[in-house]
Amino acid sequence: AETWATVPLAPPDSIFKLTAGFKADAYPQKVNLGVGAYRDDNSKPWVLPVVKKATEILLNDPALDHEYLPITGLPEFTSAAAKLMLGGASAAIGEGRVASVQTISGTGANHLGALFLSRFYKWNGDKTIYLSNPTWANHHAIFKNVGIEPVDYPYFDPKTVGLAYEALLEAFSNAPEHSVILLHACAHNPTGVDPTKEQWREIADVMLAKKHFAFFDCAYQGFATGDLEGDASAVRYFEERGVPMLVCQSFAKNAGLYGERVGALHVVGATKDATERVKSQLSVLQRSEISNPPSHGARLMSLIMNNAELFDEWKGDIKTMAERIISMRKELHRLLTEELQTPGNWDHIVKQIGMFSFTGINPAQSQALIEKAHVYLTTNGRISMAGLNTHNIKYFASSLDKAVR
Ligand code: PLP
Repeated sequence: AETWATVPLAPPDSIFKLTAGFKADAYPQKVNLGVGAYRDDNSKPWVLPVVKKATEILLNDPALDHEYLPITGLPEFTSAAAKLMLGGASAAIGEGRVASVQTISGTGANHLGALFLSRFYKWNGDKTIYLSNPTWANHHAIFKNVGIEPVDYPYFDPKTVGLAYEALLEAFSNAPEHSVILLHACAHNPTGVDPTKEQWREIADVMLAKKHFAFFDCAYQGFATGDLEGDASAVRYFEERGVPMLVCQSFAKNAGLYGERVGALHVVGATKDATERVKSQLSVLQRSEISNPPSHGARLMSLIMNNAELFDEWKGDIKTMAERIISMRKELHRLLTEELQTPGNWDHIVKQIGMFSFTGINPAQSQALIEKAHVYLTTNGRISMAGLNTHNIKYFASSLDKAVR
């Protein structure tokens, strides 16, 4: 018999399928709002000017070689990445309580963090992780792959198109002590709905009271609001309060380095000694998984983060991206509420944060947008704001208007 006779055919990745449908569509006004990658005002990928500059510096360096990086990554990169996330004044960094490892972008950080917890967390019975409902679909697969079972916690309230805050707090309070809870640090994917400062404070209170572990996923630092510091505020606040935690960090979106796979995992320990032991085990795990992380993207980000001039330029580039997205939110809101008088409340479009917006439209309306208007979006009604620009926003607004009437 054929060796693979019993292997079932897996369904295609839904976003990939959407992109394929978009590419095959010959309609001139087609719009792709599926993909989670930044596009400029002409729907083109954008190489950050600071990345171009850093690439030039790197390639002109006569000492550049292609040796292996250390197992835990480029030290100048991981230390700068930790500072970027936790802040220069972080007590944990000052006291040597952060184990930082370079990873295969944010996905790799999630995987290594999950694998580490699976092996070494003091599980209280079953291995489970609490994930927001909804969340980045990959979270489910990443944790299942290492034997950790996902459990949903309430996050999104369709009635308000906002945070299901009371239900979330209740779920955290009712979870057994020492539960592991995944939190999106900012710009929640797919909803674009984040807790307020005050809500983060109360979430931290519950996490501390129940001795929960915070598994932070931070894929959009700076990209969300244009401010690297502000977008890290929940992570930094939890660190200050002493909530046990780790942070997954990606440079895909905020540096436009999607394909270079630049990221880091930061595990915060209670003591320097414990943190050193944690780092030694992360190194052992990393060795068996990838041996050594890739060098190019880490060298670029190390140059950018460790040079004051380049760092400032990067912040400017991040602002360019964040502000374009925010201006698209404002314009879409204006078109729907003022120009088209579209039925319903659309304030969530301007309240939501980051690359995505949960429009609140139902699967049938999403499907109608794809089929009738050639506007591609996921059926949960999520749109990537980065796919909108001054050329297609009017067309999109009027298509959305028609779909909900
Ligand atoms: N986590 C979340 C919530 C994301 O949305 C993404 C990307 O879409 C990632 C992690 C990881 O992305 P990457 O592996 O490209 O850094």
